[in-house]
Amino acid sequence: MKNLRTLDVVVNNGKVVLDLPEYSDGTKLKIQIISLEKILEEQLTDQFKNENFHEDINDDKIRFEDLDLIYPILEAITQQGYEYPTPIQVKAIPLALKGKDLLATAQTGSGKTAAFSLPMIQLLSNNPVKGKSYPRGLILSPTRELASQIGESIWKYSELTDIRHVTIYGGVNQKPQVRHLQRGKDIVVATPGRLLDLINQGHMEMDRIEIMVLDEADRMLDMGFIRDIRKIIKMIPDMAQIMLFSATMPKQILELADQILVNPENVAVDPPASTVDTIESSVFFVEKSDKFELLIHLLYEEKINKALIFSRTKHGANKIVKKLLREHISASAIHGNKSQSAREKALSEFKNNEIQVLVATDIAARGIDIDDITHVINFDMSNEEETYVHRIGRTARAGKSGKAYNFCDESERPYLMAIERLTQKHLIRAENYPFMSRIAPPKPTDLEGKQRKNKSSYKRSRNERNSNKQRRYSQKSRKRNTHFNKNK
Ligand code: AMP
Repeated sequence: MKNLRTLDVVVNNGKVVLDLPEYSDGTKLKIQIISLEKILEEQLTDQFKNENFHEDINDDKIRFEDLDLIYPILEAITQQGYEYPTPIQVKAIPLALKGKDLLATAQTGSGKTAAFSLPMIQLLSNNPVKGKSYPRGLILSPTRELASQIGESIWKYSELTDIRHVTIYGGVNQKPQVRHLQRGKDIVVATPGRLLDLINQGHMEMDRIEIMVLDEADRMLDMGFIRDIRKIIKMIPDMAQIMLFSATMPKQILELADQILVNPENVAVDPPASTVDTIESSVFFVEKSDKFELLIHLLYEEKINKALIFSRTKHGANKIVKKLLREHISASAIHGNKSQSAREKALSEFKNNEIQVLVATDIAARGIDIDDITHVINFDMSNEEETYVHRIGRTARAGKSGKAYNFCDESERPYLMAIERLTQKHLIRAENYPFMSRIAPPKPTDLEGKQRKNKSSYKRSRNERNSNKQRRYSQKSRKRNTHFNKNK
């Protein structure tokens, strides 16, 4: 193998350096990069070992390095302080990197953002474009808050790559977003409404999208975005890879998945009914007129300094804030009637510990990603069992522990039963607290009692049927087009 030389690859302070040899004899340098990736991988793994990078590693645990991620991404993850991939990351990343469509059931707080963002960044970065970038990755989010959090995560994860992104959502001036798009971005994180606006105005092209993620698809459904989603999906190329992430899998989401995904891999962690083990959830039987007094008592008595309170209505949320302020407890509300800037302000004040309490409605709270919320207080019991799971999942994030307090008045007792049957767990019954309801507490819920169909087995059988059906279609003829064309 004449003229074939080996280049030394040196890893220096975390940077990869090619040690180029000098040639003075005029022969042309032929470089055969047989497996540069392999060499890099080995050297990097060695370096991690040498530096006891994961001193306390448990060898049984899968590490990020085992997931075929490229060095710039591994390095960015390390900078975030992530030690091990979460279960959804372990399952989803390798499949996504293979270009598979995914139907993923994952709660918020499970690390799902990295589960879809890391492979998207890697796949796009491995296949760079010549000249100006254009949108090749699209992530759809139901809310502005979630979109901007996903945008922030992408920014951190892609920092050491050439991938650039823009976040677009409504409620703010579109001009800066348009300017970003014009400069050329690889990934667009968007809420459906503003995305469609910009597409219609000719600012955003969809015909070169290679990977698309639908995040929190169930919430998209709740918020009435399903028609927009269908419109958007019709615009992307047939061969685009699609990943659908949802915390729950209601019927309409399974139907949508059936129409848009091709031979999807199903990945699920924490079935929707499960609540994170590290959350201690207790119920306080208290009548409506006493709820506020109980709240004040708990905030003071337990010295709670970072609480997220849920109210079923916007009006209720405002009322709670007003009363808290009267008690000199710093608080803000976040709900659909607040302007985008007011919501952002409240969120950032809460994040930075400038206010003690954030009062939210369910939709507004979706996607709030604040790691150190110690208490979630359901001032009103949620009237949907799955919402309960989402609400309390705002605490105990990223492996921390947290408490959830549920205020249950007489009219809300059926909700308690539904929640306990869904989660197959009894909430802890709080003891020795003031303002306890005079109505005798209900008997413990019979967890085996009449229950909606067991969700996980329902989900499994639906998914199995879906993938069987999908197998009948060839990879080439994307069903979604057939379906959508029929409905045009
Ligand atoms: P998500 O479910 O994507 O909203 O993520 C929840 C939180 O977990 C975010 O604050 C992430 O930064 C954090 N996170 C994601 N992946 C990991 C990991 N592997 N290790 C530790 N924290 C993580």
